[in-house]
Amino acid sequence: MNRRTILKLFALPLVAGLLPFHARAVEPFDFKTARTGYLNRLSAVKKEGVVPVIDIESSYDPTRINLDSFTRSMDRAGIALMCLSADQPGNLVKEGLFWSNHSLEACTKYPSHFIPTGNGGNHPAWTRVPEKFLEANERFMLDHQYPMMGEFEIRHYPSPRQIQRGELFRDVNVAIDGPLGHRIFAFAEKTGLPFQIHYEIEDELLDPLERMLVKYPKARVIWCHFAQIRYQSRSTRYSPQFLDGWLEKFPNLYVDTAFGDALSVYQPSGERHAQYWSRMREWNELIVARPYRFLAALDIGGDRMHRVEEWTRTLRDLLQTLPAETREIVAYKAAWRLLFAETL
Ligand SMILES: [Zn+2]
Repeated sequence: MNRRTILKLFALPLVAGLLPFHARAVEPFDFKTARTGYLNRLSAVKKEGVVPVIDIESSYDPTRINLDSFTRSMDRAGIALMCLSADQPGNLVKEGLFWSNHSLEACTKYPSHFIPTGNGGNHPAWTRVPEKFLEANERFMLDHQYPMMGEFEIRHYPSPRQIQRGELFRDVNVAIDGPLGHRIFAFAEKTGLPFQIHYEIEDELLDPLERMLVKYPKARVIWCHFAQIRYQSRSTRYSPQFLDGWLEKFPNLYVDTAFGDALSVYQPSGERHAQYWSRMREWNELIVARPYRFLAALDIGGDRMHRVEEWTRTLRDLLQTLPAETREIVAYKAAWRLLFAETL
C-alpha cells in the first residue's frame, strides 16, 4: 500500500464524517433542463381551470419538511412552482457550516415543483456570522447557478407566531447602507441575480434604501411584503403614490404580495398590518399600471409548512380582485420574466 493510498483511506472516512452539509454533491441548476417540466406544470394547473401561481418567496426547515406531502399540498392549491429557500439549521452553523444545498436537492427530487433559491439571510447564520454567510452565498450561488438569492432579513420584527412563542431573535436590524448591505447590492449588480429583502416600511428606513437603489441601479431587488406596516405611527410616507414613484424611478425594484388577510393583527402594535386590504382600490390601480413589478408570494416558512392551502386562499383573494390579464401576470408571468428573461 503506497503512501497516497494510505492517506486516502484515512482521508475518506474523515471527509465523509465531516462532509460539510453545503458540500453534498448536487448538480448545478440548469434552466434549459428544468424549463419543459415547469411549463408543463403551469399548463396542467391551467387545464384544471385554476390560475397557476409561481410563489416567489417561501422558505422551509430542511430538517423537518416532508417533501412528498408538501408537494401534494402545492398540487391541491394550484401552486405550480415555488421558489423554495432553505433556512440554515442552527446546529450546522454551530459546526461552522454556513450554507445548505437542500433547496437544490428538493429540486432534484421534484424538478417540476421547485425553483432553487439561495438560503435565506436569517438567524442564525446571517445574524451570527454574516460575513461568512455572504461568502458562502456568493460562492454557492455562482457554483450552482441558482437563479435567485433568498430573503435577507435587513429590518425585521418578529413574526406574529414568533411573538407567541417568545422567540425574539428575529428582531433584526442591519443597516441596509452599511458594509453588509453594500456587499449584497454590489454582488446582485455584478451577477444580475435578484435578491429579496425583508425591510419594514418605516419613514426612517426609506432614505437609506433609496440611496442604495440609486447607487446600484442594476441590482434587482424584491422588497417583500408590500404594504405590510406593523406600526402605522412609524410609517407616514409610504402609500400607493409613493411606491409608484419608486417603481418609476427604479426599474429593477419589485415587490411581492406576501402578507396576511384583512383581519390579521400584529399583536405588539395591535394593528392590522396587511394594509393592502384597506386601500385595495388604490393599490390595484398601481398593480394594473405596473403588473410585472408585483410578484405573487406565499411566504411559507418553517413553522407553517403544512399551511400551503390556507395561505394560498389569502393570495387568491388578492388575485381575484384584479382584472384577468393582470391576475395572470402577477400570479406567474412576472416571476417567470424576472427569473428567466422570457415573456410567457
Ligand atoms: Zn419576510
